[in-house]
Amino acid sequence: MEEKLSGIVVGGVNYGESDKILNIFTLEQGMVSAKIKGVKKAGAKLKFASEPFCFAEYVFSKSGDRRTVIGASLIDSFYSLREDVYKFYAGSVVLEFVRKFQKENIVSEKLFNLTIEALKDITYTDADYKYSLVKFLVLALEEIGYALDFTGCFECGCKLKDRVFFDYNFGGFFCDECKTDHCREINFSTYQSLLGVINGEQVLSNNLVKCLRLINFYVENKPEEKIKTLTELLNLLNIV
Ligand SMILES: [Zn+2]
Repeated sequence: MEEKLSGIVVGGVNYGESDKILNIFTLEQGMVSAKIKGVKKAGAKLKFASEPFCFAEYVFSKSGDRRTVIGASLIDSFYSLREDVYKFYAGSVVLEFVRKFQKENIVSEKLFNLTIEALKDITYTDADYKYSLVKFLVLALEEIGYALDFTGCFECGCKLKDRVFFDYNFGGFFCDECKTDHCREINFSTYQSLLGVINGEQVLSNNLVKCLRLINFYVENKPEEKIKTLTELLNLLNIV
């Protein structure tokens, strides 16, 4: 039986001499894995469809749970990401996030759209790629059930000013009075910058780096996952 799905390649491993098994995040079926044949041979027609970042309408032949890619029409390869090492890492963070957190066969139209939008912003706009990445990570964390809470002090609800403490257990921010044992103080400007990104305001490049560090810390401690490419990007920015 044939099946057509819109999807983006978020990862893959070599299989046999010239085949690959791809992880494709699809709009209609969530994450699926599929074999693609012969893509390591010279001149393979479907080679493009086996590359990370390939966003295409895939045609699969399907028997039981097994899918094999038999055709693909390209929508976007986000090719120019490869011309800028920082943007390339930012794009790779988006793919790694999806690969780590999107479970097989769970449909999430919202996360799919966030993914494509973030890659378009990072690739094609002149805006700071870090801004697009922070926005993606905050919204995507919410989508997978690890939302950060920005409504004010997590305990008393007061509007936070001057000093702010972050507790990764709650994904919440606390005032000086209410801070818990697990809290660590963060720069007020980091908190303000996260809010700024959510509200579509301008944020300084330096502060965006601080936002990324906070999110990296949160992901490592709450869902206890490492987004390796995010750590690598932060290393590249010479900040960690
Ligand atoms: Zn409080």
